[in-house]
Amino acid sequence: MSKAELLCRDRGLRLTALRRRVLELVWASHKPIGAYDILGRLGGNARTAAPPTVYRALEFLIEAGLVHRLDSLNAFVGCPDPGRMHTGQFLICRECRTVIELGDGDIEELVAAKAMALGFTAVRQILEIEGLCDSCGIAAASA
Ligand SMILES: [Zn+2]
Ligand SMILES: [Zn+2]
Repeated sequence: MSKAELLCRDRGLRLTALRRRVLELVWASHKPIGAYDILGRLGGNARTAAPPTVYRALEFLIEAGLVHRLDSLNAFVGCPDPGRMHTGQFLICRECRTVIELGDGDIEELVAAKAMALGFTAVRQILEIEGLCDSCGIAAASA
């Protein structure tokens, strides 16, 4: 968590108690977590954990680069490399929902260059690649 705090301080962003709590929940989860799971785990305090508040906290964390949104799963994952501004490529296991972030700058540049050649300016690139992770792939092969 101290990494996130430093990052926010460097960028002049304010990590409020709720934003911090939401970030902890996303990072504590080893799988992508949905907004309603986050709400459920925030529990008790209905005022601070109202859905719009949690969505705003998630928006903040996404903007800060600490969390990524995966549209295909409608869920959120913590970024393993938040210090570097990037978009990302995500390998998503269709069996166990494990997500591996590639964060490959070469892929990003290639997509941007190909888009540029068509006169298209790429602003946000999130590639979600569905498949089987190592352990699920082995399980499927031996079944
Ligand atoms: Zn990332
Ligand atoms: Zn898997």
